[in-house]
Amino acid sequence: MADRALRGMRLGTQSLESTEHAELAERRDAHYDCPNGHVLTFPFSVEAEVPLSWECHCGSLALLRDGDRPEPKEEKAARTHWDMLLERRTIPELEELLEERLEYLRSMRASA
Ligand SMILES: [Zn+2]
Repeated sequence: MADRALRGMRLGTQSLESTEHAELAERRDAHYDCPNGHVLTFPFSVEAEVPLSWECHCGSLALLRDGDRPEPKEEKAARTHWDMLLERRTIPELEELLEERLEYLRSMRASA
């Protein structure tokens, strides 16, 4: 008796919801190439951010195929201390500073 009532309720609530609202978002396949020759394909929503790599079932890191990338983000090379230094000083300036420093060290050694 109770079982029948429950089942009836469940059917009733489901029938009111039509499948019209369950429209799927636009999708496209992203392909990942594993260094071991495996190809992984996943459907992603066009609005989703597609990861650039995916761990393959074999344990290797499969990389997103270039053509699938919507807008390849330009990887900005990490600036080193040397790069930052060069932004403030030119090579001749640095050479001059180095020479000054060396002269100072030489004089220190000479007086010691
Ligand atoms: Zn693999």
